[in-house]
Amino acid sequence: MLDNEDMGATTETAGRHRVVVIGSGFGGLFGTKALRRADVDVTMVAKTTHHLFQPLLYQVATGILSQGEIAPPTREILADQANARVILGEVTGIDLEARTVTSQVLGRATITPYDSLIVAAGAGQSYFGNDQFAEFAPGMKSVDDALELRGRIFGAFELAELAETEEETVRLLTFVVVGAGPTGVEMAGQIAELAHRTLRRDFRRINTHDARVILLDAAPQVLPPFGAKLGAATKKTLEKMGVEVQLGAMVIDVDERGLVVQDKAGDKTRIDAVTKVWAAGVQASSLGKTLSEQTGAALDRAGRISVNPDLTLPGHPEVFVVGDMISLDNLPGVAQVAIQGAKYASRVIKGRLANKPPEKPFKYFDKGSMATISRFKAVALVGRIRVTGFIAWLMWLGVHIVYLTGFKNRVTALGHWTISFLGSGRAERTATEQQIFARMAISRLERGTSDLVTDPGEWNDVRLELEARALEEAHLTDAGMRGRARVS
Ligand SMILES: Cc1cc2nc3c(=O)[nH]c(=O)nc-3n(C[C@H](O)[C@H](O)[C@H](O)COP(=O)(O)OP(=O)(O)OC[C@H]3O[C@@H](n4cnc5c(N)ncnc54)[C@H](O)[C@@H]3O)c2cc1C
Repeated sequence: MLDNEDMGATTETAGRHRVVVIGSGFGGLFGTKALRRADVDVTMVAKTTHHLFQPLLYQVATGILSQGEIAPPTREILADQANARVILGEVTGIDLEARTVTSQVLGRATITPYDSLIVAAGAGQSYFGNDQFAEFAPGMKSVDDALELRGRIFGAFELAELAETEEETVRLLTFVVVGAGPTGVEMAGQIAELAHRTLRRDFRRINTHDARVILLDAAPQVLPPFGAKLGAATKKTLEKMGVEVQLGAMVIDVDERGLVVQDKAGDKTRIDAVTKVWAAGVQASSLGKTLSEQTGAALDRAGRISVNPDLTLPGHPEVFVVGDMISLDNLPGVAQVAIQGAKYASRVIKGRLANKPPEKPFKYFDKGSMATISRFKAVALVGRIRVTGFIAWLMWLGVHIVYLTGFKNRVTALGHWTISFLGSGRAERTATEQQIFARMAISRLERGTSDLVTDPGEWNDVRLELEARALEEAHLTDAGMRGRARVS
């Protein structure tokens, strides 16, 4: 017989301090792991079954990596951590008074009590009040987003090969990326590489080199957090690759066939483009609002919640909020803020249980930022040092290999990078209709995916029919009747 640990079960101990962690992203995962040796029971509640390495989503969208390489199952990552349990569910309620978290999956509700809570639910895409744009310009926040975009990008080239007019071809071969931050720059660079390098021999009627890739931003520069110098260098590199960079350009409308841009003088221009990518803004998880309503902590315009210097909420020292959800000292929305914040929260919890003196306030250590532009070209900012080109790209490669979760993923990602960067191929070009349309179909259901779950009772007739068919199949084989005319 297997004991609990062999079965991968948690070793929950009655009366032990219960930590609930919301989210399986950088904050959630690193916070949970930091409690590995603590005398606590950890329950991670997350709405996906994977830990997502968001910085490489653009490579899934453009066919370089598979989704598995950047989104390993959280359950597998934590399999050896006996004090941790993972449950699937979207947190819909946090009751700070009762100290419970309510989560839902397919209409099933679960209530999880806690003694300490770490909220690391991250941020979603912001369309600045124009959520109707989302249907035509998917964001880049989830595996679903990346696969949908992969389908749309590769699908646009396929449809262009079939187009009957010049106008239609141009519309299909125009790709617009909205937002010139790191994600927008990386997407624009990769779509340009696809068009100019990867796909150039694959089509007969169209010349993929004719594709227009446009990067738009309302801001006056590319990559503002990297400073003016690196921003200018990035713009120059993109333009050399054939990307049209339009700055001071605000998107005011998006539809199926294109978008409308307004410049600073108020003039409007329409760009016909079937494929649009939205990489322009973030909105913190709506759980911030729930927490704000119960504590009075302020929310900023992006929905981020103000936290105390020790990352707790006013009047609730047992509740920590970390990562993209917080507004503290102008900290950026980057992975290291989430990782370091979650480790800090775990340290405070362990310290309290050991009756140690309180930790000093949370202090973020900036390890630098980097963004790739194309193969062999990147920009990096480490302290005051600015690096561009191949050296920056090598730094990018090193950091991403180190931080990708799991040895298996590192090896396969390296293989795929070799194919894409040294050769001209892409290992993950598979795109299906469901990738492109499933989300739209689900959004039309009244109760979302819950509407797709059938009452077990409704399956009885199907079961009877399947059983009868299986009996008939087995009889045909056993009676040697295959290939012989049936004698009635
Ligand atoms: C495309 C892209 C590229 C990026 N590139 C970089 C980069 O190069 N370098 C860098 O440092 N940072 C980068 N970032 C930012 C970085 O990924 C985030 O700062 C980081 O992920 C924040 O960590 P987090 O734990 O706060 O949130 P996340 O990592 O987003 O995790 C949030 C978790 O909460 C879960 N969740 C959300 N709502 C609920 C709910 N209601 N119930 C249950 N679970 C929920 C989500 O499923 C997810 O598991 C990038 C982000 C994106 C989107």
